[in-house]
Amino acid sequence: MMNYAEVSERATALQDQIVAWRRDIHQHPELGFQEYRTAGIAAEQLRSLGYEVQTGVAKTGIVATIGEGSRVIAVRADMDALPVNELNEVSYVSQTPGKMHACGHDSHTAMLLGAARIFAEMANELGGEIRLLFQPCEETEDAEGKSGGQRMVEEGALDGVDHVIALHVASDIPAGKIVAESGYIMAAADSFYATIKGEGTHAAHPDLGVDPIFVAAQIINAIHGIRARRIDPIRPAVITIGAIQGGDANNVIPDSVKLRGTIRSYQDDIREKLWRELEAALALTRGFGGDYELQIVKGCPSTYNDPGVAAALRGVVTDLYGAETLVSNDPSMGGEDFAFMARKAPGAMFLLGAKRDDVHRPHHSPIFDLDESVFHMGTALLVSGALKLMRG
Ligand SMILES: [Zn+2]
Ligand SMILES: [Zn+2]
Repeated sequence: MMNYAEVSERATALQDQIVAWRRDIHQHPELGFQEYRTAGIAAEQLRSLGYEVQTGVAKTGIVATIGEGSRVIAVRADMDALPVNELNEVSYVSQTPGKMHACGHDSHTAMLLGAARIFAEMANELGGEIRLLFQPCEETEDAEGKSGGQRMVEEGALDGVDHVIALHVASDIPAGKIVAESGYIMAAADSFYATIKGEGTHAAHPDLGVDPIFVAAQIINAIHGIRARRIDPIRPAVITIGAIQGGDANNVIPDSVKLRGTIRSYQDDIREKLWRELEAALALTRGFGGDYELQIVKGCPSTYNDPGVAAALRGVVTDLYGAETLVSNDPSMGGEDFAFMARKAPGAMFLLGAKRDDVHRPHHSPIFDLDESVFHMGTALLVSGALKLMRG
């Protein structure tokens, strides 16, 4: 039976191959639900390693299984890129203007392919089933409002899974440091689209209509008051209005104003309260003689790291790299659609610090990049973590 130190040695030996996969995928970024080439590379590798491979899951995703037994541990990577124009001057720069792997999902796919090799080398001693999930479209949703992780769950990719793990690189955490916290790590991320309806009229005679810009000003205040006055101060929540549109002349009062925004929270009861409070804030339009329409589009729920699974991950980090490798990190109000999987089977996502240099390279920015030298750690931890969970 391969022990964790041997897993780590194998991962280190695969380091150059993992970087090569990452650079190839980085040069050929594909947006959500269009990951045909990326999934093709993964499927070919997995088949050659002896996995049973199912393609076209959640449109462009892959489920690959190896090993047999009643216990099933799933390991997930996402594959999609972003509509960002890369500004890095590197040999592996994106070859497609306007598309870029600006969140590191290229490296997630590459590290999971590395893990796939190591699992295949111990196929007969896994003690259960390893299920690799290469999911499409983590960053956004399709026309039906569904992300790749949500579709994977709906199509049964997580059925029978005991635990699911995943990693996310972090361009702002020192290279080689690991975060594997218990509890909420990412927020539920819902969107809203509101129309404040007034009654258009001459700008010199606002009393003859209902000015939706004036009404919007009151509503925006009310919305910003929800977090401050209507939600338990010790529970995380935020509503941001990211867009406002209305009117197009200096001397015309328009008919309506549109607001768009995002709603973030951790606990489900707070999430639902935010929806109700948003509705109540918009209902104030009626007191001013106007009206409203509100559409709340539910995104991913909050990501909750199961304490037992997170502790198992921290255990293998300590065994392999020493306790000083673990760092703590504040939970984020960002969203992550691994949440759907972690709600289907108790799971956890760990962060792999991969800060490249002294430059601030935020995720989703045109200069996002990673320190590739730590990729072997991601591969080793995905394998060791899955083995530890398999053994219970
Ligand atoms: Zn992202
Ligand atoms: Zn991401």
